[in-house]
Amino acid sequence: MKKIIVAGAGASGMTAAIAASSEGAEVLLLEHKDRIGKKILSTGNGRCNFTNTSQEPVCYHSDNPGFPWKIVEKFNARDVISFFLQLGVYSKNRNGYLYPNSDQASAVLDALRMELERLKVEIRTETHCREIRPGKKGFTVLTDQGNFRADKVILAAGSKAAPSTGSDGSGYDLAKMLGHRIVPVLPALVQLRCRGDFFKSLAGVRADGSVSVWSEDVCIARDRGEIQLTNYGISGIPVFQVSRYASRLIYEKKEAYAVLDFMPDFTYEQMNAFLRARAQSRPEKTAGQFLIGLFHRKLSDFWIKAAGISGEKKAGTFTDADFAALCAWIKNMKVYITGTNSFEQAQVCRGGVDTREVDPDTLESLYVPGLYFAGEILDVDGMCGGYNLTFAWASGYTAGKSAARGISKSEEKRAYAQD
Ligand SMILES: Cc1cc2nc3c(=O)[nH]c(=O)nc-3n(C[C@H](O)[C@H](O)[C@H](O)COP(=O)(O)OP(=O)(O)OC[C@H]3O[C@@H](n4cnc5c(N)ncnc54)[C@H](O)[C@@H]3O)c2cc1C
Repeated sequence: MKKIIVAGAGASGMTAAIAASSEGAEVLLLEHKDRIGKKILSTGNGRCNFTNTSQEPVCYHSDNPGFPWKIVEKFNARDVISFFLQLGVYSKNRNGYLYPNSDQASAVLDALRMELERLKVEIRTETHCREIRPGKKGFTVLTDQGNFRADKVILAAGSKAAPSTGSDGSGYDLAKMLGHRIVPVLPALVQLRCRGDFFKSLAGVRADGSVSVWSEDVCIARDRGEIQLTNYGISGIPVFQVSRYASRLIYEKKEAYAVLDFMPDFTYEQMNAFLRARAQSRPEKTAGQFLIGLFHRKLSDFWIKAAGISGEKKAGTFTDADFAALCAWIKNMKVYITGTNSFEQAQVCRGGVDTREVDPDTLESLYVPGLYFAGEILDVDGMCGGYNLTFAWASGYTAGKSAARGISKSEEKRAYAQD
Protein backbone atom coordinates (compact mmCIF):
# COMPACT_ATOMS: atom_id res chain seq x y z
CA MET A 1 0.00 0.00 0.00
CA LYS A 2 1.37 3.40 -0.98
CA LYS A 3 2.22 5.64 1.97
CA ILE A 4 1.51 9.32 1.53
CA ILE A 5 2.21 12.18 3.89
CA VAL A 6 0.22 15.38 3.53
CA ALA A 7 1.96 18.34 5.18
CA GLY A 8 -0.68 20.87 6.29
CA ALA A 9 -4.30 20.12 7.17
CA GLY A 10 -6.11 23.07 5.64
CA ALA A 11 -8.73 22.99 2.88
CA SER A 12 -6.32 21.65 0.25
CA GLY A 13 -4.47 19.23 2.53
CA MET A 14 -7.65 17.63 3.85
CA THR A 15 -9.02 17.24 0.32
CA ALA A 16 -5.73 15.75 -0.83
CA ALA A 17 -5.82 13.28 2.07
CA ILE A 18 -9.40 12.27 1.24
CA ALA A 19 -8.62 11.89 -2.48
CA ALA A 20 -5.45 9.85 -1.85
CA SER A 21 -7.06 7.68 0.77
CA SER A 22 -10.07 6.93 -1.41
CA GLU A 23 -7.60 5.64 -4.02
CA GLY A 24 -6.39 3.14 -1.44
CA ALA A 25 -3.29 4.93 -0.13
CA GLU A 26 -2.29 4.94 3.53
CA VAL A 27 -2.33 8.62 4.44
CA LEU A 28 -0.74 10.52 7.30
CA LEU A 29 -1.92 14.13 7.66
CA LEU A 30 0.47 16.40 9.59
CA GLU A 31 -0.67 19.71 11.08
CA HIS A 32 1.28 22.01 13.36
CA LYS A 33 -1.74 23.66 14.97
CA ASP A 34 -3.71 21.93 17.71
CA ARG A 35 -6.69 21.55 15.35
CA ILE A 36 -7.10 20.91 11.65
CA GLY A 37 -8.75 23.27 9.18
CA LYS A 38 -8.73 26.39 11.37
CA LYS A 39 -8.82 28.84 8.45
CA ILE A 40 -12.00 27.31 7.05
CA LEU A 41 -13.85 28.51 10.15
CA SER A 42 -13.16 32.17 9.35
CA THR A 43 -14.08 31.96 5.67
CA GLY A 44 -17.06 33.82 4.27
CA ASN A 45 -17.57 35.65 7.58
CA GLY A 46 -18.03 32.31 9.32
CA ARG A 47 -20.38 31.00 6.64
CA CYS A 48 -17.78 29.63 4.17
CA ASN A 49 -18.34 30.70 0.59
CA PHE A 50 -16.93 27.41 -0.65
CA THR A 51 -17.32 27.84 -4.42
CA ASN A 52 -18.98 29.90 -7.13
CA THR A 53 -21.09 28.69 -10.07
CA SER A 54 -19.56 31.33 -12.33
CA GLN A 55 -16.11 30.03 -13.24
CA GLU A 56 -13.79 31.54 -15.83
CA PRO A 57 -10.02 31.58 -16.29
CA VAL A 58 -9.96 35.31 -15.36
CA CYS A 59 -11.12 34.43 -11.84
CA TYR A 60 -7.66 33.00 -11.10
CA HIS A 61 -4.25 34.71 -11.15
CA SER A 62 -0.69 33.47 -11.34
CA ASP A 63 2.58 34.65 -12.87
CA ASN A 64 2.05 31.56 -15.05
CA PRO A 65 -1.43 32.62 -16.19
CA GLY A 66 -2.75 29.43 -17.81
CA PHE A 67 -1.85 27.22 -14.85
CA PRO A 68 -4.74 27.66 -12.37
CA TRP A 69 -7.43 27.02 -14.94
CA LYS A 70 -5.87 23.70 -15.95
CA ILE A 71 -6.55 22.52 -12.41
CA VAL A 72 -9.95 24.15 -11.92
CA GLU A 73 -11.46 23.05 -15.22
CA LYS A 74 -10.86 19.44 -14.21
CA PHE A 75 -12.51 19.89 -10.81
CA ASN A 76 -14.95 22.74 -11.24
CA ALA A 77 -17.80 24.21 -9.21
CA ARG A 78 -20.09 21.31 -10.12
CA ASP A 79 -17.50 18.82 -8.86
CA VAL A 80 -17.02 20.84 -5.68
CA ILE A 81 -20.77 20.90 -5.05
CA SER A 82 -21.14 17.16 -5.62
CA PHE A 83 -18.00 16.38 -3.58
CA PHE A 84 -19.53 18.18 -0.61
CA LEU A 85 -22.96 16.74 -1.22
CA GLN A 86 -21.43 13.27 -0.90
CA LEU A 87 -19.96 14.41 2.38
CA GLY A 88 -23.39 15.55 3.53
CA VAL A 89 -23.08 19.29 2.86
CA TYR A 90 -26.15 20.56 1.03
CA SER A 91 -25.42 23.94 -0.53
CA LYS A 92 -27.20 27.26 -0.56
CA ASN A 93 -26.83 29.38 -3.71
CA ARG A 94 -26.75 33.17 -3.30
CA ASN A 95 -26.42 34.63 -6.81
CA GLY A 96 -23.89 31.98 -7.69
CA TYR A 97 -22.00 32.19 -4.39
CA LEU A 98 -22.25 28.81 -2.69
CA TYR A 99 -22.50 28.30 1.08
CA PRO A 100 -23.42 25.31 3.22
CA ASN A 101 -27.17 25.30 3.77
CA SER A 102 -26.60 25.69 7.51
CA ASP A 103 -24.62 28.90 6.83
CA GLN A 104 -21.93 27.56 9.14
CA ALA A 105 -18.33 27.19 8.02
CA SER A 106 -17.97 24.63 10.80
CA ALA A 107 -20.32 22.34 8.83
CA VAL A 108 -17.78 22.21 5.98
CA LEU A 109 -14.94 21.46 8.36
CA ASP A 110 -16.95 18.85 10.27
CA ALA A 111 -17.90 17.10 7.03
CA LEU A 112 -14.25 16.93 5.95
CA ARG A 113 -13.21 15.72 9.37
CA MET A 114 -15.84 12.96 9.39
CA GLU A 115 -14.72 11.83 5.95
CA LEU A 116 -11.08 11.69 7.04
CA GLU A 117 -12.18 9.58 9.98
CA ARG A 118 -14.28 7.28 7.80
CA LEU A 119 -11.31 6.76 5.48
CA LYS A 120 -9.05 6.12 8.46
CA VAL A 121 -6.61 8.88 7.61
CA GLU A 122 -4.14 9.22 10.47
CA ILE A 123 -4.01 12.79 11.73
CA ARG A 124 -1.22 14.19 13.85
CA THR A 125 -1.75 17.70 15.13
CA GLU A 126 0.86 19.83 16.92
CA THR A 127 3.41 18.37 14.54
CA HIS A 128 5.50 20.96 12.76
CA CYS A 129 7.18 19.82 9.52
CA ARG A 130 10.73 21.12 9.45
CA GLU A 131 12.15 19.42 6.40
CA ILE A 132 11.14 17.08 3.62
CA ARG A 133 14.08 14.91 2.69
CA PRO A 134 13.90 12.90 -0.55
CA GLY A 135 15.81 9.60 -0.45
CA LYS A 136 16.54 6.81 -2.89
CA LYS A 137 13.14 5.33 -2.11
CA GLY A 138 10.56 7.80 -0.97
CA PHE A 139 10.85 10.59 1.58
CA THR A 140 11.56 11.29 5.22
CA VAL A 141 9.58 14.13 6.73
CA LEU A 142 11.42 15.63 9.68
CA THR A 143 9.14 17.12 12.32
CA ASP A 144 9.42 18.35 15.89
CA GLN A 145 7.62 15.12 16.89
CA GLY A 146 10.00 12.73 15.13
CA ASN A 147 10.59 11.58 11.57
CA PHE A 148 8.05 9.95 9.28
CA ARG A 149 8.62 7.96 6.10
CA ALA A 150 6.45 8.01 3.00
CA ASP A 151 6.52 7.06 -0.67
CA LYS A 152 5.10 10.43 -1.66
CA VAL A 153 4.59 13.79 -0.01
CA ILE A 154 1.95 16.42 -0.70
CA LEU A 155 2.96 19.87 0.49
CA ALA A 156 -0.20 21.80 1.37
CA ALA A 157 1.06 24.21 4.03
CA GLY A 158 -0.78 27.31 2.77
CA SER A 159 0.52 30.85 2.44
CA LYS A 160 1.29 33.65 4.89
CA ALA A 161 -2.23 35.07 5.01
CA ALA A 162 -3.99 35.01 8.38
CA PRO A 163 -1.00 33.34 10.09
CA SER A 164 -2.93 32.90 13.36
CA THR A 165 -4.80 30.07 11.59
CA GLY A 166 -1.50 28.24 11.07
CA SER A 167 -0.30 29.39 7.65
CA ASP A 168 2.92 31.00 8.84
CA GLY A 169 4.83 30.76 5.55
CA SER A 170 6.97 27.84 6.72
CA GLY A 171 5.72 25.84 3.72
CA TYR A 172 7.66 28.15 1.40
CA ASP A 173 10.89 27.29 3.24
CA LEU A 174 10.17 23.58 2.84
CA ALA A 175 9.67 24.10 -0.91
CA LYS A 176 12.80 26.27 -1.17
CA MET A 177 14.90 23.57 0.55
CA LEU A 178 13.77 21.24 -2.24
CA GLY A 179 14.99 23.63 -4.92
CA HIS A 180 11.76 25.43 -5.78
CA ARG A 181 11.64 29.11 -6.62
CA ILE A 182 9.18 31.28 -4.74
CA VAL A 183 7.41 34.08 -6.60
CA PRO A 184 7.35 37.08 -4.16
CA VAL A 185 4.63 36.48 -1.60
CA LEU A 186 2.49 39.57 -0.95
CA PRO A 187 -0.84 40.27 0.77
CA ALA A 188 -3.90 40.11 -1.51
CA LEU A 189 -7.65 40.43 -0.95
CA VAL A 190 -6.69 43.06 1.56
CA GLN A 191 -7.47 46.67 2.55
CA LEU A 192 -5.43 49.52 1.03
CA ARG A 193 -3.79 52.18 3.13
CA CYS A 194 -3.94 55.65 1.57
CA ARG A 195 -2.45 59.09 2.11
CA GLY A 196 -4.75 61.83 3.40
CA ASP A 197 -5.80 63.14 6.80
CA PHE A 198 -9.36 63.43 5.50
CA PHE A 199 -9.83 59.65 5.79
CA LYS A 200 -10.35 60.09 9.53
CA SER A 201 -13.47 62.15 8.86
CA LEU A 202 -14.76 59.65 6.29
CA ALA A 203 -14.36 56.51 8.40
CA GLY A 204 -17.47 54.34 8.39
CA VAL A 205 -18.83 55.50 5.02
CA ARG A 206 -20.03 52.73 2.70
CA ALA A 207 -20.92 53.78 -0.82
CA ASP A 208 -21.41 52.07 -4.17
CA GLY A 209 -18.85 52.97 -6.76
CA SER A 210 -15.94 51.79 -8.79
CA VAL A 211 -12.32 51.66 -7.75
CA SER A 212 -9.41 51.49 -10.13
CA VAL A 213 -5.70 51.10 -9.45
CA TRP A 214 -3.33 53.22 -11.49
CA SER A 215 0.37 53.71 -11.93
CA GLU A 216 2.04 56.26 -14.17
CA ASP A 217 -1.26 57.16 -15.86
CA VAL A 218 -2.04 53.53 -16.71
CA CYS A 219 -5.12 51.84 -15.27
CA ILE A 220 -4.08 48.39 -14.07
CA ALA A 221 -7.28 47.04 -12.54
CA ARG A 222 -10.84 48.12 -11.86
CA ASP A 223 -13.75 46.73 -9.91
CA ARG A 224 -17.14 47.86 -8.76
CA GLY A 225 -19.25 47.38 -5.66
CA GLU A 226 -19.54 48.70 -2.14
CA ILE A 227 -16.49 50.75 -1.23
CA GLN A 228 -15.81 51.20 2.47
CA LEU A 229 -13.86 54.20 3.73
CA THR A 230 -11.82 53.69 6.87
CA ASN A 231 -9.65 55.95 8.97
CA TYR A 232 -6.55 54.72 7.11
CA GLY A 233 -7.83 54.19 3.57
CA ILE A 234 -10.20 52.01 1.59
CA SER A 235 -11.75 48.59 2.00
CA GLY A 236 -14.68 46.50 0.76
CA ILE A 237 -14.98 43.77 -1.85
CA PRO A 238 -14.04 45.88 -4.93
CA VAL A 239 -10.96 47.15 -3.09
CA PHE A 240 -10.04 43.56 -2.17
CA GLN A 241 -10.36 42.52 -5.81
CA VAL A 242 -7.87 45.15 -7.03
CA SER A 243 -5.56 44.95 -4.01
CA ARG A 244 -3.26 42.29 -5.52
CA TYR A 245 -2.21 44.81 -8.16
CA ALA A 246 -1.57 47.58 -5.66
CA SER A 247 0.38 45.13 -3.53
CA ARG A 248 2.70 44.36 -6.43
CA LEU A 249 3.19 48.06 -7.31
CA ILE A 250 4.11 48.84 -3.72
CA TYR A 251 6.50 45.88 -3.62
CA GLU A 252 8.15 47.13 -6.81
CA LYS A 253 8.34 50.63 -5.29
CA LYS A 254 6.27 52.06 -8.11
CA GLU A 255 3.75 54.87 -7.87
CA ALA A 256 0.30 53.51 -6.97
CA TYR A 257 -2.93 55.41 -6.71
CA ALA A 258 -6.61 54.57 -6.68
CA VAL A 259 -9.36 56.47 -8.42
CA LEU A 260 -12.77 56.24 -6.78
CA ASP A 261 -15.84 56.95 -8.88
CA PHE A 262 -19.01 57.29 -6.82
CA MET A 263 -21.29 57.71 -9.84
CA PRO A 264 -19.91 55.14 -12.32
CA ASP A 265 -23.11 54.96 -14.40
CA PHE A 266 -22.80 58.67 -15.31
CA THR A 267 -20.19 60.11 -17.63
CA TYR A 268 -18.45 63.24 -16.40
CA GLU A 269 -20.67 65.36 -18.69
CA GLN A 270 -23.85 63.64 -17.48
CA MET A 271 -22.82 64.20 -13.87
CA ASN A 272 -22.16 67.86 -14.57
CA ALA A 273 -25.54 68.28 -16.27
CA PHE A 274 -27.26 66.39 -13.45
CA LEU A 275 -25.74 68.67 -10.79
CA ARG A 276 -26.67 71.79 -12.75
CA ALA A 277 -30.28 70.64 -13.09
CA ARG A 278 -30.33 69.87 -9.37
CA ALA A 279 -29.06 73.36 -8.57
CA GLN A 280 -31.60 74.95 -10.90
CA SER A 281 -34.48 73.07 -9.34
CA ARG A 282 -33.61 74.14 -5.75
CA PRO A 283 -31.41 77.23 -6.11
CA GLU A 284 -32.07 78.29 -2.50
CA LYS A 285 -30.30 75.25 -1.02
CA THR A 286 -26.91 75.93 0.52
CA ALA A 287 -23.83 73.99 -0.59
CA GLY A 288 -24.03 72.14 2.73
CA GLN A 289 -27.53 70.94 1.80
CA PHE A 290 -27.00 70.48 -1.92
CA LEU A 291 -25.87 66.82 -1.99
CA ILE A 292 -28.16 65.56 0.78
CA GLY A 293 -30.10 62.57 -0.50
CA LEU A 294 -27.50 61.81 -3.13
CA PHE A 295 -24.43 60.80 -1.15
CA HIS A 296 -23.46 59.96 2.41
CA ARG A 297 -23.38 63.15 4.46
CA LYS A 298 -19.74 62.71 5.47
CA LEU A 299 -18.71 62.40 1.82
CA SER A 300 -20.83 65.36 0.71
CA ASP A 301 -19.46 67.63 3.42
CA PHE A 302 -15.92 66.62 2.56
CA TRP A 303 -16.37 67.17 -1.18
CA ILE A 304 -17.98 70.59 -0.77
CA LYS A 305 -15.06 71.67 1.39
CA ALA A 306 -12.44 70.02 -0.85
CA ALA A 307 -14.00 71.70 -3.90
CA GLY A 308 -13.42 75.05 -2.19
CA ILE A 309 -17.12 75.92 -1.97
CA SER A 310 -18.36 77.74 1.12
CA GLY A 311 -21.01 75.74 2.99
CA GLU A 312 -23.34 78.76 2.94
CA LYS A 313 -23.08 79.41 -0.80
CA LYS A 314 -26.46 79.05 -2.55
CA ALA A 315 -26.71 76.32 -5.22
CA GLY A 316 -28.21 78.90 -7.63
CA THR A 317 -24.95 80.83 -7.52
CA PHE A 318 -22.57 77.92 -8.17
CA THR A 319 -20.07 78.73 -10.91
CA ASP A 320 -18.80 76.50 -13.74
CA ALA A 321 -15.67 75.97 -11.68
CA ASP A 322 -17.76 74.85 -8.66
CA PHE A 323 -19.61 72.24 -10.74
CA ALA A 324 -16.37 71.08 -12.35
CA ALA A 325 -14.64 70.71 -8.98
CA LEU A 326 -17.57 68.78 -7.49
CA CYS A 327 -17.74 66.45 -10.49
CA ALA A 328 -14.03 65.80 -10.23
CA TRP A 329 -14.34 64.75 -6.59
CA ILE A 330 -17.43 62.61 -7.15
CA LYS A 331 -16.20 60.83 -10.26
CA ASN A 332 -12.48 61.03 -10.00
CA MET A 333 -11.44 60.97 -6.34
CA LYS A 334 -7.73 60.22 -6.56
CA VAL A 335 -6.05 58.78 -3.49
CA TYR A 336 -2.40 57.73 -3.19
CA ILE A 337 -1.85 54.19 -1.96
CA THR A 338 0.90 53.96 0.61
CA GLY A 339 0.61 50.23 1.30
CA THR A 340 -1.67 47.34 2.05
CA ASN A 341 -2.72 46.04 5.41
CA SER A 342 -0.54 43.21 6.70
CA PHE A 343 -0.65 39.46 6.13
CA GLU A 344 -2.74 39.23 9.32
CA GLN A 345 -5.60 41.05 7.61
CA ALA A 346 -5.13 39.58 4.12
CA GLN A 347 -7.46 36.80 3.01
CA VAL A 348 -4.89 35.33 0.63
CA CYS A 349 -1.42 35.92 -0.77
CA ARG A 350 -0.32 36.47 -4.31
CA GLY A 351 2.89 34.63 -5.16
CA GLY A 352 4.19 31.32 -3.87
CA VAL A 353 5.79 28.22 -5.38
CA ASP A 354 6.53 29.00 -9.02
CA THR A 355 3.99 26.98 -10.97
CA ARG A 356 6.33 26.73 -13.95
CA GLU A 357 8.13 24.12 -11.86
CA VAL A 358 4.99 22.05 -11.25
CA ASP A 359 3.19 19.67 -13.62
CA PRO A 360 -0.32 21.11 -14.10
CA ASP A 361 -1.79 17.67 -14.84
CA THR A 362 -0.66 16.05 -11.60
CA LEU A 363 0.68 18.89 -9.44
CA GLU A 364 3.90 16.96 -9.07
CA SER A 365 7.15 18.87 -8.71
CA LEU A 366 9.18 18.91 -11.92
CA TYR A 367 12.33 18.78 -9.77
CA VAL A 368 11.52 16.22 -7.07
CA PRO A 369 9.60 13.13 -8.26
CA GLY A 370 7.00 12.07 -5.74
CA LEU A 371 6.56 15.56 -4.28
CA TYR A 372 3.22 17.27 -4.96
CA PHE A 373 1.77 20.68 -4.14
CA ALA A 374 -1.77 21.76 -3.32
CA GLY A 375 -3.52 24.98 -2.38
CA GLU A 376 -2.37 28.47 -1.67
CA ILE A 377 1.30 27.53 -1.28
CA LEU A 378 1.32 27.65 -5.08
CA ASP A 379 1.59 30.93 -6.94
CA VAL A 380 -2.18 31.07 -7.51
CA ASP A 381 -4.69 33.50 -6.06
CA GLY A 382 -8.32 33.78 -6.92
CA MET A 383 -10.83 36.58 -6.87
CA CYS A 384 -12.98 37.10 -3.81
CA GLY A 385 -16.15 34.99 -4.07
CA GLY A 386 -15.33 31.34 -3.38
CA TYR A 387 -12.49 31.03 -5.89
CA ASN A 388 -9.65 30.48 -3.45
CA LEU A 389 -11.39 27.60 -1.77
CA THR A 390 -12.33 26.22 -5.18
CA PHE A 391 -8.65 26.19 -6.06
CA ALA A 392 -7.82 24.57 -2.71
CA TRP A 393 -10.37 21.74 -3.24
CA ALA A 394 -9.45 21.29 -6.92
CA SER A 395 -5.69 21.24 -6.40
CA GLY A 396 -6.01 19.06 -3.28
CA TYR A 397 -8.12 16.57 -5.21
CA THR A 398 -5.71 16.45 -8.16
CA ALA A 399 -2.60 16.16 -6.00
CA GLY A 400 -4.18 13.47 -3.80
CA LYS A 401 -5.37 11.36 -6.73
CA SER A 402 -2.11 11.74 -8.66
CA ALA A 403 0.06 10.90 -5.68
CA ALA A 404 -1.97 7.79 -4.91
CA ARG A 405 -2.24 6.54 -8.46
CA GLY A 406 0.57 4.48 -10.06
CA ILE A 407 3.87 5.73 -11.26
CA SER A 408 4.29 9.46 -11.65
CA LYS A 409 5.13 11.11 -14.96
CA SER A 410 8.63 12.11 -13.88
CA GLU A 411 9.32 8.63 -12.49
CA GLU A 412 8.14 7.27 -15.83
CA LYS A 413 10.58 9.58 -17.64
CA ARG A 414 13.41 8.44 -15.36
CA ALA A 415 12.52 4.79 -15.92
CA TYR A 416 12.68 5.30 -19.69
CA ALA A 417 16.00 7.09 -19.35
CA GLN A 418 17.44 4.13 -17.42
CA ASP A 419 16.30 1.56 -20.04
C1 LIG B 1 -10.67 35.68 6.83
C2 LIG B 1 -10.64 34.82 5.58
C3 LIG B 1 -11.82 34.61 4.88
C4 LIG B 1 -11.79 33.85 3.70
N1 LIG B 1 -12.96 33.59 3.06
C5 LIG B 1 -12.97 32.82 1.94
C6 LIG B 1 -14.20 32.46 1.33
O1 LIG B 1 -15.30 32.72 1.83
N2 LIG B 1 -14.11 31.76 0.15
C7 LIG B 1 -12.92 31.37 -0.40
O2 LIG B 1 -12.91 30.75 -1.47
N3 LIG B 1 -11.74 31.65 0.21
C8 LIG B 1 -11.74 32.34 1.37
N4 LIG B 1 -10.55 32.61 2.01
C9 LIG B 1 -9.30 32.05 1.44
C10 LIG B 1 -9.21 30.54 1.75
O3 LIG B 1 -9.55 30.31 3.08
C11 LIG B 1 -7.79 29.99 1.49
O4 LIG B 1 -7.39 30.31 0.18
C12 LIG B 1 -7.73 28.49 1.69
O5 LIG B 1 -8.18 28.11 2.96
C13 LIG B 1 -6.30 27.98 1.49
O6 LIG B 1 -6.26 26.62 1.80
P1 LIG B 1 -4.84 25.89 1.96
O7 LIG B 1 -5.16 24.49 2.33
O8 LIG B 1 -4.01 26.12 0.78
O9 LIG B 1 -4.13 26.64 3.15
P2 LIG B 1 -4.55 26.75 4.73
O10 LIG B 1 -6.02 26.65 4.87
O11 LIG B 1 -3.86 27.92 5.23
O12 LIG B 1 -3.92 25.42 5.32
C14 LIG B 1 -2.55 25.22 5.51
C15 LIG B 1 -2.39 24.35 6.74
O13 LIG B 1 -1.03 23.97 6.86
C16 LIG B 1 -0.62 24.08 8.23
N5 LIG B 1 0.85 24.26 8.21
C17 LIG B 1 1.54 25.32 7.71
N6 LIG B 1 2.86 25.11 7.82
C18 LIG B 1 3.01 23.90 8.41
C19 LIG B 1 4.13 23.13 8.79
N7 LIG B 1 5.39 23.55 8.58
N8 LIG B 1 3.94 21.93 9.40
C20 LIG B 1 2.67 21.47 9.63
N9 LIG B 1 1.56 22.16 9.29
C21 LIG B 1 1.73 23.35 8.67
C22 LIG B 1 -1.39 25.28 8.72
O14 LIG B 1 -1.50 25.30 10.11
C23 LIG B 1 -2.73 25.11 8.02
O15 LIG B 1 -3.64 24.35 8.78
C24 LIG B 1 -10.55 33.32 3.21
C25 LIG B 1 -9.38 33.54 3.93
C26 LIG B 1 -9.42 34.27 5.12
C27 LIG B 1 -8.15 34.45 5.90
